[in-house]
Amino acid sequence: MRFQTKAIHAGQEPDPATGATIVPIYQTSTYTQTAVGEHKGFDYSRTINPTRLALERQLAALEGARYGSAFSSGMAATSAVLSLLSAGDHVVVGDDLYGGTYRLFSRVFERFGLEFTYVDMTDHDAVRAAVRPATKLFWLETPSNPLLKLVDIAAIAEIADGRTVAVDNTFATPYFQQPLALGAHIVVHSTTKYIGGHSDVVGGVAITDDAALHEQIRFQQNAAGGVPGPQDAWLTMRGAKTLALRMREHARNAQIIAEFLAARDDVARVYYPGLPDHPQHELAKRQMSGFGGMLSFELAGPPLRAHEFAARLRYFSLAESLGGVESLICHPGRMTHGSIPASVRERRGITDGLLRLSVGIEDPQDLLADLSGALEARAGIRDSELTSPV
Ligand SMILES: *Cc1c(COP(=O)(O)O)cnc(C)c1O
Repeated sequence: MRFQTKAIHAGQEPDPATGATIVPIYQTSTYTQTAVGEHKGFDYSRTINPTRLALERQLAALEGARYGSAFSSGMAATSAVLSLLSAGDHVVVGDDLYGGTYRLFSRVFERFGLEFTYVDMTDHDAVRAAVRPATKLFWLETPSNPLLKLVDIAAIAEIADGRTVAVDNTFATPYFQQPLALGAHIVVHSTTKYIGGHSDVVGGVAITDDAALHEQIRFQQNAAGGVPGPQDAWLTMRGAKTLALRMREHARNAQIIAEFLAARDDVARVYYPGLPDHPQHELAKRQMSGFGGMLSFELAGPPLRAHEFAARLRYFSLAESLGGVESLICHPGRMTHGSIPASVRERRGITDGLLRLSVGIEDPQDLLADLSGALEARAGIRDSELTSPV
């Protein structure tokens, strides 16, 4: 089965009880047994639920893997993977990282004796130097948030030399990037984003093709219990059926907008892997089959107030999150990355003038008109301020 066929069919057999073509929402916590321990493979919904199982099979297939475990959020999935480790174990982590992941590592798992070293994963010597005898896991995100830096997954897997490599594939999605085929062992997603795709459900998944790792993740899923309810599993599954169609449109629109912004004098920088001057454009072409729907840009001149700029946009909502069909704009410095100290933020390139777009699948002409209108209005404000006596 090819990608788009898997999205529609993997795990989606007609319901054995009724023939329902679409997997039903099995809104049940428990299952009636005919005798003690005699049941149809389902005993309690923290452990197993048919709707969730269908989602797990669908998403595993999309990553080219046999096993998936669904969670109530991306952070719950990440947490389950980290829970495979024990006190004293060491993790090498990419330094351009989702803020919530950094918070989980530094404020929760460090208290349980895990150790983390944050490195620039584009610097392979630095990655090699960070490895210790106790290193058990490599954690990476590519493209990263918000600067769209890429990590060479195959190169890191080679450095890891058999140690577990986990990739947060939320930004690229399996449609554009398949980390397991590049040597990673575990893929994690916030399905809240592109996989769900409609900004109406929070969820996560951990996927692997390694039976032993799957066994351990499944154990964590049941032991800690961060599972999605059947309703959320169903919404995620429905969203994922159109992942390929949506991703093609997201990427097409993002490329158009990135090129439009890059050509403007009032835009200082554009971060998008699909632009030829992106520092890792060649790696992007090799490692990804498309460049995704996320881009960031920095305005030239004095930093603006994000809400002022956003207030002039009609279709881009000022909001955290990403990956829905609707366009969003966010000011990483004061929103998603606000918990990082200002000096660290500036050093990493997350300036006050940086804005991040999650480009939706609206008509690109409307999105371009929206952005150019807001940019022109901003120029107007600055000119009038310059000439105004007050
Ligand atoms: C949103 C996000 C997460 C966290 O997922 P939740 O579903 O919000 O818990 C993790 N990684 C990345 C890259 C994200 O964008």
